[in-house]
Amino acid sequence: TKIFHSLRPPIVLPSPHLSINAADHAFSLLRQSLSDSLHTTTAAFIDSATARRLSYADFLRRVGSLSSALQSRLGLSKGDTAFVLSPTCLEIPILYFSLLSLGVAFSPANPLSTPAEISRQIQISKPSIAFAAKSTAHKLPITTTSLRHPTVLIDSDEFYSMMTVAASVLRRWTTAPVDQGDTAAILYSSGTTGLVKGVELTHRNLIALMSMPPAASMQSEENVQLLTAPVFHSFGVTGCLKGVVDGATTVLMTARFDLEGMLKAAAEYRASLIPLVPPLVVAMAMKEGVVEKFNLRSLRVVMCGGAPLGKDVAERFAARFGGILLFQAYGLTESGYGLAMMADPNEAKRYGSVGRLNPNVEAKIVDPATGLALPPGHGGEMWFRSPGVMKGYVGDERATTDAFDLDGWLKTGDLCVIDNEGFVYVVDRIKELIKYKAYQVLPTELEHLLLSHPDIVDSAVIPYPDEETGQIPMAFVVRKPGSPINEAQVAPYKKLRRVAFIGSIPKTPSGKTLRRELVDFAFSAHSSK
Ligand code: AMP
Repeated sequence: TKIFHSLRPPIVLPSPHLSINAADHAFSLLRQSLSDSLHTTTAAFIDSATARRLSYADFLRRVGSLSSALQSRLGLSKGDTAFVLSPTCLEIPILYFSLLSLGVAFSPANPLSTPAEISRQIQISKPSIAFAAKSTAHKLPITTTSLRHPTVLIDSDEFYSMMTVAASVLRRWTTAPVDQGDTAAILYSSGTTGLVKGVELTHRNLIALMSMPPAASMQSEENVQLLTAPVFHSFGVTGCLKGVVDGATTVLMTARFDLEGMLKAAAEYRASLIPLVPPLVVAMAMKEGVVEKFNLRSLRVVMCGGAPLGKDVAERFAARFGGILLFQAYGLTESGYGLAMMADPNEAKRYGSVGRLNPNVEAKIVDPATGLALPPGHGGEMWFRSPGVMKGYVGDERATTDAFDLDGWLKTGDLCVIDNEGFVYVVDRIKELIKYKAYQVLPTELEHLLLSHPDIVDSAVIPYPDEETGQIPMAFVVRKPGSPINEAQVAPYKKLRRVAFIGSIPKTPSGKTLRRELVDFAFSAHSSK
């Protein structure tokens, strides 16, 4: 059989039949990683903008307090889902752990989403309650069938009081028993095709992800991770959870930032690990005159994931930062990330690869034309199985069935090669998804929007390569003469950034858009300039 197994030592997970709450599991791993003395003094989370600091003792107290308050005051319990719409702030990890403790699934969305996008997400996850910041609450729909509670503002006095209830109440706090197969989180992703869907991650999925070995930088004395990924994205969610499990200090980038702002925080808080998306790694590797200003001696590892990083950039980074390891990590929201990564200095030298399969992950490289599994060195679609892989797309059996094959392999929509030594190379993306600064942009969503314009006859949206951001969404539009294009109705990162007018959109006989042809066309038109 041509199945690639992880070369790393397997991780023994709890028997799937035991009822274990992911929060409980996290806290017990935390106890193992923190000595008692550290327990009270180590910061669990720091707000980079205000320097507000939450020790592990405070963090655990607040999680306990908030859980009891959500349970007793709001009646939240297992089976509920909570929608979360907030910029990154210290309250978010407290909220995630509290909801997990109660067995309430949390469902975070991008705070830049438009009200229409949010309504769609709420239709999918059917939350009974929403948590928002004062700056985002107005985007929530006023009437929905599922929301039973008024919106809770997490930057309000009321919320603060819920995080700080009396110790007597706290003593009664216990985490809710759940089956490991119960839903723990619902994240939003388009998968390989179509519109946004809700990725249903179970407690077991999170337990599997949290049980991964810590990044090399997290094994040392001072474990400080600078979390730049937004807390609604899989990369940010797992970053928050993993930080706690490893007993690390997680510094949250809470304000808008650029390269300079990020490096300033890294120097100030002596970060040892920075998980990053490619545009910032490119900036670190290429930009002159900024990096030199900061003392980055504490920094051991930059973990890059979320979108492809060029081999040349990785080489340049290595040449520029001798003491900092650039590890690549590869995954999907559907896998809770953690499919493949680099784990030591030798692996980091495999520039252009995304490292090796993580523990407990198995993969196949499948010829898209024949459906046959290919041997090492051959390019095909990567399929994988792992204990971290989602249960399915919530409430969408059709999409779930399409995503998996009959033996439970999940199709990534990524064209990959795995070599003889187990290194994974992501060669191309064959699914529709566009990644702008590692954010998902769904071509179909923009096409629907374009088609809603009365003057537009047809359209197709494709990824257009862009050095700074990875890819920009480009639209081919068939129009009635003289039509303007509406760019204002989608979230800012989903804006069309390039438009071409065309006589007709190339399609298969069955009417499916031939995006590949348009990509080639856009690119050849560009290179012939
Ligand atoms: P998302 O669910 O938004 O995180 O998107 C997942 C997709 O991002 C993957 O299927 C890949 O296409 C892409 N991706 C993530 N990490 C990497 C990486 N290290 N290298 C290349 N592509 C990546």
